[in-house]
Amino acid sequence: MTDLTPATAALDLSMVVPVYNEEESIAAMHAALLETLEPLNIAFEIIYVDDGSKDGSFAKLREFAADPRVKVVQFRRNFGQTAAMAAGFEHAQGAIVFPIDADLQNDPKDIPRMLAKLDEGYDVVAGWRQKRQDAFWTKTFPSRIANRIIGRVTGVVLHDYGCTLKAIRRDILQDVRLYGEMHRFLPVFAHLAGGRITELAVAHHPRRWGVSKYTLSKTFRVILDLVTVYFLAAYATKPIYFFGRFSFASFGIAGLAMAWTLVNRFAFGIFVKDQPLFLVGIFFAIAGLQFLLFGLLAELNMRTYYESQGKPTYFVRERLNIAAPSPRSH
Ligand code: UDP
Ligand code: MG
Repeated sequence: MTDLTPATAALDLSMVVPVYNEEESIAAMHAALLETLEPLNIAFEIIYVDDGSKDGSFAKLREFAADPRVKVVQFRRNFGQTAAMAAGFEHAQGAIVFPIDADLQNDPKDIPRMLAKLDEGYDVVAGWRQKRQDAFWTKTFPSRIANRIIGRVTGVVLHDYGCTLKAIRRDILQDVRLYGEMHRFLPVFAHLAGGRITELAVAHHPRRWGVSKYTLSKTFRVILDLVTVYFLAAYATKPIYFFGRFSFASFGIAGLAMAWTLVNRFAFGIFVKDQPLFLVGIFFAIAGLQFLLFGLLAELNMRTYYESQGKPTYFVRERLNIAAPSPRSH
């Protein structure tokens, strides 16, 4: 579905590092990564995605790329962390894809433990910054609330969606597309694709170099994203059920208002022109009709969404004695 090369991966592990103006930390980061990865005796690559840095980050990355295990993708401008991660995922050759922040707030030393956890039979092991070292009121506290809400709404209960550090099996990524700032919902999308998700407490360090690229406004964007994710999770293939509820509720209120208008007219002799309730009834009748038409449009749109790109409406974990059907020709 995405452009990832098929299941037989060329490497064991692809680290994916989004980089935006991290020239002070990137060298220490690279050294720490190599120090952890080399003793593991696995075939790995480190993919740095330079998300339009304006400082000397790219020059540093160019130096690292003298090592053929280092791959660098440079964006023309800043497209955001989610796009940087998506680019890394799409270029990755490893059976396991492993995003990590470039600022050393995540600790590469956690990588082996997370890989071991993945081996227990999971598709995603999400890092949980149990002792998060960020400003309390602007980051840790709002994100704690957001995490609660996300868990409640999506049914995928994790302590920390925002932690970049995640060990992800490539098969599951093949069925996940990331837009906007949706990388923190990756576990939710992976769950929707049928993946097995778990979490592991990981270390977290204060930022030693450079500045955070996010502010409090992020929390509000997260809440808006959550609305989208909730809709996709619950109604992506059946939008009329979503809009239909509002439609029926509106028609119901309209019916009651109209009925009461009639009772007032015939039982109590109040003329309709003297009853504002009549207008309320008309308003809700129109709203009900709009919701219904909206739902039908969404149904049409949904069919275009899935069929135009041959997106599947289901995901298979394994097949026994049967091959995947050949793509439908239109
Ligand atoms: N980042 C990026 N593009 C952006 C913002 C951030 O690639 O537009 C990278 C950044 O360089 C870092 C990671 O995403 O490697 C997380 O960013 P940051 O440390 O600022 O977030 P925080 O830890 O403060 O939540
Ligand atoms: Mg950080």
